[in-house]
Amino acid sequence: MAMKQHKIMGANAHLSLAERDKQCIWHPFSQNKIDPMPLEIVRAQGSKLYDANGNSYYDLVSSWWTALHGHCHPYITQAITEQAKTLDQVIFAKCTHPKAVELVERLLPLLPGEFTRGFYSICGSTAVEVGLKMAYQYWHNQDQTNRKRILAFEGGYHGDTFGAMAVGRSTDFFEAYAPLLHPVSFIPFVETWQHDENVDHKELTALAQLDEYLEQHGHETAIFIYEPLLQGSSGMRICRPQFLEAVLKRLKQYDIVLIADEILTGFGRTGTMFAGEQVSTAADIICLSKGLTSGSLPLALTCCSDKIYREFYSASWSKALAHSHSFDANPMACATACASLDLFEQENTMVLINKLHKVHNESLKNIHLNSPGDFEKQRTIGNVGVLDLKVQDTDYTSDIKHEVAAKCLEAGMLLRPLGNSVYVMPPACICLDELRQCYRDLEEILRVIRRSNL
Ligand code: PMP
Repeated sequence: MAMKQHKIMGANAHLSLAERDKQCIWHPFSQNKIDPMPLEIVRAQGSKLYDANGNSYYDLVSSWWTALHGHCHPYITQAITEQAKTLDQVIFAKCTHPKAVELVERLLPLLPGEFTRGFYSICGSTAVEVGLKMAYQYWHNQDQTNRKRILAFEGGYHGDTFGAMAVGRSTDFFEAYAPLLHPVSFIPFVETWQHDENVDHKELTALAQLDEYLEQHGHETAIFIYEPLLQGSSGMRICRPQFLEAVLKRLKQYDIVLIADEILTGFGRTGTMFAGEQVSTAADIICLSKGLTSGSLPLALTCCSDKIYREFYSASWSKALAHSHSFDANPMACATACASLDLFEQENTMVLINKLHKVHNESLKNIHLNSPGDFEKQRTIGNVGVLDLKVQDTDYTSDIKHEVAAKCLEAGMLLRPLGNSVYVMPPACICLDELRQCYRDLEEILRVIRRSNL
């Protein structure tokens, strides 16, 4: 066995890391045959990633929307190291440990609503599966067999496991599995942007459509799942808080269980600790991951209100939530999440994010003034800035996104456009001037690409 392994490594010794990768790795959300060679990243610090040749790249996607305070933060690294020396992993069924309890005790009062319980899992998709199972079984445990329907926003994305794919199927990512996905009804998500003059009309039309749905099916609907204010994967689409509030209020009137997917929006991304703080109707269930550990280790939490938990709390096993993962509440991940909460206080992270928000805003305004014909739908929320390139091919799979990503890499910026939507989402530690410069470089690159694609 050892001999065989040695031989393989020896045969590949002349290849670069990326070439070896191309021979054996199947990457997520990629098409190996046409995708460029992967970028070889060997270390990270703060807002930057470094390759083996010492080139640096601003991580303007926060490494898939996870990196919050910045990479390899010494305080986080210390928390991981200390915990690794003390307790690395323990089964979480019928065992507990200090950091698992500390984290939920500290988080529950911060959440936007009356949350009383936290259920651990390992990533965003599992947090959503847990949320869907909690909400569905909540009705089942009360023998309310008429509550079967599931409702979601068009363009919502909630992960890649089967339940999560079903509620995110309107994004067209999951065509191959369509026959296996349970039915879901979709209502319009009214996106808006700077100088959008039609937003009031669009919202009224969408709400009328929702009213019609609720009149027919409100009392049969068990669940509504939503990304609050910001839909990530379908193109960083933003809606107004008053629209979301009007939707949630209507759904509450029918007692529909509300699941807020704050996997992207949680922990300051939208300018408040949680996006749900910007509306007054609270969710019954909230899903958290990504920024939970400041993006350093995988961990997820699905928290619920007492109304939900009460229907599971019973002497009968048949009412229990039958769900677990091997790495639920991993102690190193929980310690990391506690350290990340400390940093919010120590580093005034929300103040930093709100300063960055101003830079996103002013930079996008400048881009609009400098070249009004090249871009459209400039929009910002919290530490996210987005614009759409005016091109013919706006599809998610369009070649333009590869061209933009490649040119930005050459300029030292890691971006991952969604179709023709180009977004900037750095960790909170990036300096204001660095962010301003990134936007200036980006504007130049995008203008050249757009004009060469006319
Ligand atoms: N929900 C939202 C809103 C997300 O953005 C994502 C991931 N991009 C997920 C769920 C799934 O998370 P994960 O990739 O960790 O499974």
